[in-house]
Amino acid sequence: MKRYIDLHIHSTNSDGSWTPAEIVKRAVKYELAAIAITDHDTVSGIPEALESIQNTGIDFVPGIEISTKWCHGRMHILGYFIDHNSSYLAELSKKMKQAREERITRTCDKLAAIGKPVSPELVFEMAKNSSSIGRPHIANAMVKMGYVPTLQRAFDLYLSYGKPGYVPRWSPEPKEAIDIIHGAGGIAVVAHCGVTEGCMEQLDKVIALGIDGVEVYYPSHKPHQIEKLIAIAKEHNLAITGGSDCHGMTRGEPLLGIYKVPYKIYENLVKFYKNKKVNTM
Ligand SMILES: [Zn+2]
Ligand SMILES: [Zn+2]
Repeated sequence: MKRYIDLHIHSTNSDGSWTPAEIVKRAVKYELAAIAITDHDTVSGIPEALESIQNTGIDFVPGIEISTKWCHGRMHILGYFIDHNSSYLAELSKKMKQAREERITRTCDKLAAIGKPVSPELVFEMAKNSSSIGRPHIANAMVKMGYVPTLQRAFDLYLSYGKPGYVPRWSPEPKEAIDIIHGAGGIAVVAHCGVTEGCMEQLDKVIALGIDGVEVYYPSHKPHQIEKLIAIAKEHNLAITGGSDCHGMTRGEPLLGIYKVPYKIYENLVKFYKNKKVNTM
């Protein structure tokens, strides 16, 4: 029997549409042998996943995908085999929360300066039942204040990149994210190089940051990119990973169970991880 894995999946704990339990259910249906849940900047889905995966025979890798500053955009760094209770991750989540709140206040300052004052208290009030505060809550407040008829309009006129109320989001430096993943006992893997601006061209720079692996198998990676990434991984003794980056139903056809990564990739990754653990102890 051919067996497959998926090491890149998002749940409702970030921007996916399935809960960790629903992801596990789907993995069972498609007979996957191993999965990792890699939510953006959070490990909050891991306890539920661990709970639901019991007795399914599926291996579970606790993961995360951290957004970091890179070129003019972002580089995503995946963490695998992390201890989700690690203080390094708790510290990251505290910093992210602070940064999100500061972003709200700074956005309100900018809106006030263009004659559309929104009180930060109103925004915090509107977000009180949400696990993470963000621009949609400001947009909702703007609708409530009668500045715009819809949430989308608030984004189009004021809150999107390049608009007068836009404030960039804080992200850690790539090195910081790698150190957090290492601190939590995991291995750090650069995600989807083929879709991150300037990543394929500057792989030497990425490797010099101290990553342990590269995500090679990814739905939009072209054959020549896969080939190049495998060659680089071999040359630098890096781990190779792969996954669908499934977001449930939010990005059209769900890829979990459809995009196939061979089991061998997982076996080699476990070997790599065990080796690294032995050598760093
Ligand atoms: Zn990503
Ligand atoms: Zn992702």
